[in-house]
Amino acid sequence: MGRMTLLGVGTGVPDIDRDHTHMVWEGATGPVLIDAGGSTYQRLLRAGVDPQQIQAIILTHSHTDHINGLFALVFSMYLAGRRETLPVYGLEPTLALVQRILEAFQLEQYVTPIDWHPLEAGDVLPVPGDPDWIIRTAASEHSRPCLALRFEARQQARALTYSADTAPCQQVIDLARGSAILIHEATTAEPFPGHTTPQQAGEIAAAAQVEHLVLVHFSPRWTMSEAEALAAVRAGGFAGRAEVGQEYQVLEIEQAGSV
Ligand SMILES: [Zn+2]
Ligand SMILES: [Zn+2]
Repeated sequence: MGRMTLLGVGTGVPDIDRDHTHMVWEGATGPVLIDAGGSTYQRLLRAGVDPQQIQAIILTHSHTDHINGLFALVFSMYLAGRRETLPVYGLEPTLALVQRILEAFQLEQYVTPIDWHPLEAGDVLPVPGDPDWIIRTAASEHSRPCLALRFEARQQARALTYSADTAPCQQVIDLARGSAILIHEATTAEPFPGHTTPQQAGEIAAAAQVEHLVLVHFSPRWTMSEAEALAAVRAGGFAGRAEVGQEYQVLEIEQAGSV
């Protein structure tokens, strides 16, 4: 079974009940964090995930709402006793910027040791700590280089795709094709460069023929109300299960053939 917990579901501006969008994959032998925007260490605890058990972090891109929690996280992990190397994956420019910021913090020895793993769009890698799953990557269409991610079961062709920040684009449709779950951003009410509207997210979910669409990077204040967003998804032509993602929501991919 695949399991993704949403640690934050908001836009670049947090709401009272929505931190920046990031999430954690709970693999067979440990969690894999996807982005680190906001108070990640505490959010992992609240989600029932031990931050010290993190197998790897994958960064989609270098905008501050996706990386600002990383530096406090690796500091806290060290203070809490972690000395085991932490693999951090991301595009080369993402890792380069993160390394510069980390240096500026001057954490000295008070940082868990990091092993940097540069990724390229199109890479396929085993999910760290979860041999039954692989990750496929694709370039999304954003104002900075950004990776969309597809978690795919090796045996069953069941998948969960996360668009990351993106304008509507063919690469995400191709990556998401046939996914059981598509977590797609829906930041803006009107078409806007580098981002997606709820209606466009519905169009993408329909084109990719996914079963279940979950909107993230969304705000009832900055995007539109949840009811309007779901109506817009339908107007986009998506007839499957659709919802607005909630903080700490757990998304599970059931075994193929089960309900
Ligand atoms: Zn963002
Ligand atoms: Zn962004």
